Amino acid sequence: MSEPSVFTRILQGEIPAEIIAETENVFAIRDIAPQAPVHLLVIPKTAQYRNVVELAASDPVLLTELVGLANTLAAEYSDGDFRLVFNTGPGAGQTVFHVHAHVLSGGLEEGRLGG
Ligand code: 5GP
Repeated sequence: MSEPSVFTRILQGEIPAEIIAETENVFAIRDIAPQAPVHLLVIPKTAQYRNVVELAASDPVLLTELVGLANTLAAEYSDGDFRLVFNTGPGAGQTVFHVHAHVLSGGLEEGRLGG
């Protein structure tokens, strides 16, 4: 069995992080290394999906729950406009293989693709 992911360890209280919101199946934290004025992570509580492709193929309802929480938090923490980023694969910058969405908001007018 592989080691628990950093996000599972946060959910279980083994690594300190404030859980800023949660639903039945999804939770959210602030990114430890923010890349935008608002940079949140929305994460399924289950670690069984490594990336958004696996999640979408196996549990689209859970993906919908994740997107819904991202939308709610963008309104709560910013002006409601946001970028939703799922890095997929190491070549795209994915470092944690427990699917998660980056919710980026605030001051994003320049660099439309996040560059
Ligand atoms: P990825 O690179 O896989 O798309 O995103 C992983 C994200 O998790 C990174 O943006 C990184 O800053 C964040 N991260 C990694 N470890 C921790 C941690 O212990 N606490 C929090 N809050 N974020 C983390």
